[in-house]
Amino acid sequence: MKTPICLFDAKTGILCSKCDAKLTSGQLNQADVYSSIKLAKLAERDQEISKFTLVGSHKVDDDYILFLRTPDIITIRSNPAIGKKFSGEFDANIWFIEAEGTDRRFMENLFYPLRVLNMNLIWLPDGNKLTRVIVNQVAANRSSFPLDVEKIRKVAKAVKKIDLIVEFEANPN
Ligand SMILES: [Zn+2]
Repeated sequence: MKTPICLFDAKTGILCSKCDAKLTSGQLNQADVYSSIKLAKLAERDQEISKFTLVGSHKVDDDYILFLRTPDIITIRSNPAIGKKFSGEFDANIWFIEAEGTDRRFMENLFYPLRVLNMNLIWLPDGNKLTRVIVNQVAANRSSFPLDVEKIRKVAKAVKKIDLIVEFEANPN
């Protein structure tokens, strides 16, 4: 397991002076620290989770956005019980994001298990830009995933400063 704070700190829940200085300077945030401690607890009980690398974390409202390495995300996607363990330990909604991903991959992670069909930038006359994402509507209807578009927009803004427009497209088939 790797976390943004020292492994020892994550296991004891007490920051060493080095990590404490990183928190004070803003190099780490409170969610990084909290999520590291939670991950250490989960890793004690789960061998797969004990191999995870937490790159960073954000808190948006009561939800946690966890940035993990791609193999960790693949493990979570292939074993939904792991995701449930996270939401149980955190007692919160958890969003799993690939830390190495592009903005496109970030969107695919946010909308998972729905499919992102297209993503493009829209430049406004004032120089600001919006990111438009088109998501497959049919997959949305099939899925039991409670799609909260407003929350997705909020997470994109808070984590990546992306102003998001979400559109749905029906599957032509
Ligand atoms: Zn430390």
